[in-house]
Amino acid sequence: MRPLIVIGNWKMNGSLAKNADWIKTVCRGMEQGMPAGRQYAVCVPSPYLAQCSQLIADCSLAFLSLGAQDVSAHVSGAHTGEVAASMLKELGCKYVIVGHSERRQFHHEVDEQVAEKALQVLDSGMTPVICVGETADERNSGREEEVVRGQIAKQVAVLQDRLADCLIAYEPIWAIGTGKVASAQVAQDMHHAIRLQLAEFDVDVASHVGILYGGSVKPDNAVELFAMPDIDGGLIGGASLNPSDFLAIARA
Ligand code: 13P
Repeated sequence: MRPLIVIGNWKMNGSLAKNADWIKTVCRGMEQGMPAGRQYAVCVPSPYLAQCSQLIADCSLAFLSLGAQDVSAHVSGAHTGEVAASMLKELGCKYVIVGHSERRQFHHEVDEQVAEKALQVLDSGMTPVICVGETADERNSGREEEVVRGQIAKQVAVLQDRLADCLIAYEPIWAIGTGKVASAQVAQDMHHAIRLQLAEFDVDVASHVGILYGGSVKPDNAVELFAMPDIDGGLIGGASLNPSDFLAIARA
């Protein structure tokens, strides 16, 4: 049985004061009780990892995990501005998002690089959250499954069996930050297609991999999305900035 996993992605938002307030509010909320067997995390900007790691450690119950939003594809060395997976691990990260569409679109990241990043994350003992998803044009021209299949195929080629230790996030680009959530059925259909594709490689891997949905998840649509058989949780952008909304989605 795959656990339901809810991960917040703050993107480039936050401040020392806001982060402290958010983590204290969410920890207090979680201490009131959460549904059993779920996992929760928040992916914060790199400069705030140390602060948030400490704040999370100060919570009396270890409900919430920490994550990062990107990582270098290299182990160490002359890569100015990059952050190594080993550094994220040292700061207490459990999850690392790789291949977010904003990295692919605005920083020209390609599938091979995304897979290399995922390998670095795995080698450091953390869980990569590998993002895939199609643009509005690709969906409107009926190519959404072909596009996502191509993205997944590249991950399978590099990661092979190690995919069992990864999470996949299906984030249709047209749904990110737009308020246009994929209907639960549209999301379920793509999640199912991804699982079938993974099963062509290895049935065990396919049944183990958590596939999260991301794109305009809000407290009022999370219940329906999370009830779908192939949707194993969510990667939450905008709504994760508000601690009450994040808690409401975490409880959905
Ligand atoms: P929104 O929830 O703001 O649409 O963002 C989704 C996302 O990109 C999470 O990684």
